[in-house]
Amino acid sequence: MRKKILAANWKMNLSAIEAQEWLTQFKSGVSDRHPVEFRLYAPHVFIQQLSADEEMHVGAQNVHPADFGAFTGEIAIPQVKSVGAQSVLIGHSERRTYFQESDSFLKEKVDACCAHLFPFIFCCGEDLQTREMGNHLSFIQKQLETAIFQLNPQEVFLMTIAYEPIWAIGTGLTATTNQINEVHAFIRSILTKEFGENGANVSILYGGSVNEGNAQGIFSCPDVDGGLIGGASLNVFDFLELASSF
Ligand code: PEP
Repeated sequence: MRKKILAANWKMNLSAIEAQEWLTQFKSGVSDRHPVEFRLYAPHVFIQQLSADEEMHVGAQNVHPADFGAFTGEIAIPQVKSVGAQSVLIGHSERRTYFQESDSFLKEKVDACCAHLFPFIFCCGEDLQTREMGNHLSFIQKQLETAIFQLNPQEVFLMTIAYEPIWAIGTGLTATTNQINEVHAFIRSILTKEFGENGANVSILYGGSVNEGNAQGIFSCPDVDGGLIGGASLNVFDFLELASSF
C-alpha cells in the first residue's frame, strides 16, 4: 500500500527554540483532515527534543554506514535511533555534491539501514546537464541499480524514494508535471521489475522547490506519493498549507 508522505527537510537551519516553536505551531495547526504522514528531518542536535513528541515522525538527515568508530563529526544509526529518530535521508543531492558521496558509498548506508531495520528515504535525481542531454532516465536508473538493487523483498518495505532533480532544489525552478510524471512512472517501473509487488508499493516523493503555488499540480500526478520539502518547510504555516494540496 503506497503511503502519502509530506516530509520537511530543514537542512542546516533553525535554532533549538525555533525548532520547538515550529513543532508547537505544527501541532496546533495540523488536523485529521490532512491525509498524509508527516515527517520532520531535523538537524541531529534537535532529534531528541523533537521526538519527545511521540506523534511526530522525526528523522535524521544523514548517517554514517559504520555502527561506531573513528569518524570524527559523523553519526551512526544506533546513535540517532537511541535519541528517537525513526528514519533517515540517504543520498540527498547536497550530500552527493558537497560531501562527494558516491553511489557505492550510499549503498553502504542503505545496507546499514537494512541491517538495523531502519527506514530510509533514498534520494535520486539528475543534474541540469544530464537533463539537457536527455540522459536523465539512464542516470537515475544507475543511481538506483548501484545503491538499492541488492535489497531483498522484505527490506524493500524500509524504503521510500524521493525524486529530486538537482536543478530544481532550492533554485525556484520546478520540474513540469510532465517531467515529474515521466520520471516517477519510470522509477516505479524499475522498482516493480526488480522487486515485484513490494516494489510497486514503494512510495515515491517529489522534491524540488515545491511551494503552495505548484503543490496541487505535483501532488495530483498519479505516481507522486508526496513531497520532500526544503525551503517551504521552514515556515510551519507554509508547510501545513502544502498538506492541504493533497
Ligand atoms: C530538499 O532539500 O530536499 C528540497 C527539495 O529543497 P527545496 O524544496 O528548497 O527545493
